[in-house]
Amino acid sequence: MEPIQVDALVIRQKNYGEADRILTLFSKQLGIVSAMAKGARKFKSHQAGATQLFCYGRFNLVPGKNMYTLRGAVCEESFFSVSASIENLALAQYLCDLAYLTTGPENPDEGVLSLLLNTLYLLSKGEKDSALLKAVYELKLCQQAGFAPRTDCCMRCGAMENLNAFSPAMGGTLCSACGAADAIKLAAPTVKALQYIAEAPLSASFGFTLKQDFLCELSKTCEKFILFNVDNYPNSLDYYKKINNF
Ligand SMILES: [Zn+2]
Repeated sequence: MEPIQVDALVIRQKNYGEADRILTLFSKQLGIVSAMAKGARKFKSHQAGATQLFCYGRFNLVPGKNMYTLRGAVCEESFFSVSASIENLALAQYLCDLAYLTTGPENPDEGVLSLLLNTLYLLSKGEKDSALLKAVYELKLCQQAGFAPRTDCCMRCGAMENLNAFSPAMGGTLCSACGAADAIKLAAPTVKALQYIAEAPLSASFGFTLKQDFLCELSKTCEKFILFNVDNYPNSLDYYKKINNF
């Protein structure tokens, strides 16, 4: 059978047998799929590099009964450098898990892939606070997956001023007059940051800074909101929190 050529990111990797690897690929063309990379762990394997975690490249896949079989791969961009820091590695795994949870298998979503690649790129550069990257990614992913929060008015009364809380269950901000049992209290700069992320295009959405206290609020809000909207809990989040002493 003719191989299918796809552009994909390795989001999970598991050793199999003596020398094989099972890859989870987030591909532009087929969505998230599994592929068996035979002999990928052999020293001389020419596809060893491309089958590394967080490698983005071109993969030739042959369809099989349970999964695809890899017939050659070329790595074009590797974000493997995030593995040099255990904090970044934990975050990168969490980002990939969230992409999996919101997209599901075999559901091509170029928007989510592009968001994931952008965030991994910024994480590998190390120039942005990782809590900011995490928060922006979570909120943008919610938008991409079709459950964008409202951040421009109160979800209960419609007021557009004095917004100072966020309710994951109500799907957005609340004003000072309207409470909600699950609402997270927010300072004005945090509300502004939420509004900025919600309105900015992907390319500009990471382009702001926030003081640590507000960043903590933002991080908590975005995380609670995405967890409220996904069916399964990403275990990698506990690992990320343990590493970062949250
Ligand atoms: Zn209100």
